[in-house]
Amino acid sequence: MLKKVLIANRGEIAVRIIRACAEMGIRSVAIYTEADRYALHVKRADEAYSLGDDPLAGYLDPQRIVNLATETGCDAIHPGYGFLSENARFAELCERAGVTFVGPKASVIDRMGDKTAARDSMREAGVPITPGSEGNLANLEEALSLAESIGYPVMIKATSGGGGRGIRRCDSASDLKQQYPRVISEATKAFGSAEVFLEKCIVDPKHIEVQILADSHGNVIHLFERDCSVQRRNQKLIEIAPSPQLSNEQRHYIGELAVRAAKAVDYENAGTVEFLLTGKEVYFMEMNTRVQVEHTITEQITGVDVVREQLRVAAGLPLSYQQSDIQFRGFALQFRINAEDPKNDFLPSFGRITHYYAPGGPGVRVDTAIYTGYEIPPYYDSMCLKLIVWALNWEDAIDRGRRALDDMRLHGIRTTVPYYQQILQHPDFRSGQFNTSFVPQHPELLNYSVKKHPSEIALAVAASLAAHAGW
Ligand code: ADP
Ligand code: ADP
Ligand code: MG
Repeated sequence: MLKKVLIANRGEIAVRIIRACAEMGIRSVAIYTEADRYALHVKRADEAYSLGDDPLAGYLDPQRIVNLATETGCDAIHPGYGFLSENARFAELCERAGVTFVGPKASVIDRMGDKTAARDSMREAGVPITPGSEGNLANLEEALSLAESIGYPVMIKATSGGGGRGIRRCDSASDLKQQYPRVISEATKAFGSAEVFLEKCIVDPKHIEVQILADSHGNVIHLFERDCSVQRRNQKLIEIAPSPQLSNEQRHYIGELAVRAAKAVDYENAGTVEFLLTGKEVYFMEMNTRVQVEHTITEQITGVDVVREQLRVAAGLPLSYQQSDIQFRGFALQFRINAEDPKNDFLPSFGRITHYYAPGGPGVRVDTAIYTGYEIPPYYDSMCLKLIVWALNWEDAIDRGRRALDDMRLHGIRTTVPYYQQILQHPDFRSGQFNTSFVPQHPELLNYSVKKHPSEIALAVAASLAAHAGW
């Protein structure tokens, strides 16, 4: 087994990995930049090392992180999600330094991180893909003629995109002319690559993805699916496992497709194959070669610890389970609680958490790195907490979500909590039948009134008294 693991990440996922290490008797090493000096992952790890003043540079410096791992005697690096997790050069540097990268081989990251190369692999493997470009687009003219032949609407997408950015829908040729340069500039800024491709826009699809686990002994299994159709601007808000809108037949078909996809590229470690579903059609969309934000809900319904399996596989051990061992029970929902103000176009709302009380009780799990007094730095992702609930049936899981969101106290910043309370009451959501248009089609869900916490009211009163008194 591994003895000491460096966690090349921050926030809740770093804490999640530290917890898995602690349970497995593995020493954990955290890295941080000065903006994160008081972050929870720094406090919880067995050792922690500063990578300088710049809030981001340290987390994005492959060579420095690999050197640190070697100097501190780590035998592996877990990259988490985001940052360097899908950076093939980082995986390569690890390989060369004799440090195990907790993830697939660099060549597989390269292949699947490039969405057009991934489409090629899937085409060859007989996994259905959305109609669209073979390779990247050379210019606007090619985009226009391709769009003409497959029919509008189409999507222009950044080839190395992620996190819901670098994707634009185009409903007509004039739309495409406008959006094409925008996606290129967005892709260049966000991903350092100007490559884009085009695919048919599937109207009102469901986003269904399958969790895969694969070891170095040729075993590949799936842990069933997650439904991530509740999205805003192509970014997931609430995730559900299993999908309440799949038949068992569809479930098994899509699970097998995902296993076929992973086998086709000799996949190793945990990964996710994402699909779009419409009517009876299923299309491969992309593969994420890392642990995902929403791996938690799969853990709740299957009982499998995904991060533990990642570490075991990295150590060269076989998976703890065969496909026939994997069963699921009940429904789990995950709410991505973001430090954002839904009523103000979801603008980030960073600052000090003046009061935090975690929800609890049956079927409730919280993955977070915040605490009372913690100041959320403005340099990173706005997701500050994941609330996960589980219950035996769909309606009970929703009610448990409502109760747990209500239980929680999170003051000092604006969050997406009140917005989620509205979604949970909506009959379409409660019916379990929704697609990726649910959020844009229901702007009225933003018309809630914000209840102020007594301490916030007291602060406001004090401020106005002070103003009147001329303090
Ligand atoms: P998931 O795919 O696990 O559901 P997200 O798409 O929300 O998660 O991404 C998780 C984090 O990783 C976010 O902070 C996101 O910005 C970042 N991320 C994802 N893909 C990329 C990428 N290709 N390049 C840079 N950051 C990425
Ligand atoms: P990312 O790498 O940013 O996660 P994805 O390719 O997974 O990008 O797409 C993110 C989301 O954008 C999907 O979950 C879906 O809602 C939407 N989307 C992407 N491609 C299409 C498409 N061809 N048709 C309709 N929606 C799409
Ligand atoms: Mg995706």
